[in-house]
Amino acid sequence: MARKAIAASYCGICGRGEREAALLSVEWVRPNIARYLDDAHPKWRESRFICSTDLQMARWQALESVIERERGELTELDRSVIASMSRDETLSQNVEEDYAERLSFGERAADRIAGFAGSWAFILTFVGVLMLWVAVNLVPLLRQPFDPYPFILLNLMLSMIAAFQAPLIMMSQKRQEAKDRLRSLNDYRVNLKAELEIRHLHEKFDHHLMRQWERLTEIQETQMELLSQPLPTSARSAVKKKKASKAAADSPQRSALPPSDPKPS
Ligand SMILES: [Zn+2]
Repeated sequence: MARKAIAASYCGICGRGEREAALLSVEWVRPNIARYLDDAHPKWRESRFICSTDLQMARWQALESVIERERGELTELDRSVIASMSRDETLSQNVEEDYAERLSFGERAADRIAGFAGSWAFILTFVGVLMLWVAVNLVPLLRQPFDPYPFILLNLMLSMIAAFQAPLIMMSQKRQEAKDRLRSLNDYRVNLKAELEIRHLHEKFDHHLMRQWERLTEIQETQMELLSQPLPTSARSAVKKKKASKAAADSPQRSALPPSDPKPS
């Protein structure tokens, strides 16, 4: 119903005829797109038709203008969302996987070490090693302990471990932040797309309801007109004949009914 092939019809924007492009009636353009087209191409309604390519373009440009109106300048992110909508692509992505693929060997090793350093396994192992170290050097098993009281070598070892651990943890935290940032950008894009798609659906739905309501009203008006007109004589005699034949068909049934029936039909 939307596509009408009428001779000499052409698109009101690019001027292509029905042979070069699929044309749609301007009545089917939703109000927000029509408003955008009124601003951008004031004479687009003259031909009463628009091609599907131009309508598609207008749809995304109208969307861009809506976002621009609501929050000023469009960011690169907003543009990428609109582009993905126009290409009908899925936008959500698994940030964890993408990020893990980009990590170098050193970065991955730092993450592993930082992960181990923040675990109970590390604390228990460390306590065990310390106690063993102290015990070996205190118990008079060795005649010459390698680190006698007050364990200066142990102190040196501990400060070396602490010195390496701090930058490792900081590196790991920095990467975690970068990952969080990517995740929040992805969330923002997905949310914006969902919001725009829902709005798009609402408009489409409202527009179709309105169109349907108009059509129903038209049909009802036509029916009312038909009912108010007097029947032509030929039709009237046909109705009479039909009634007579119906009455004839009913009469044998009536005689077959039992006499006690108070209301024979
Ligand atoms: Zn066109």
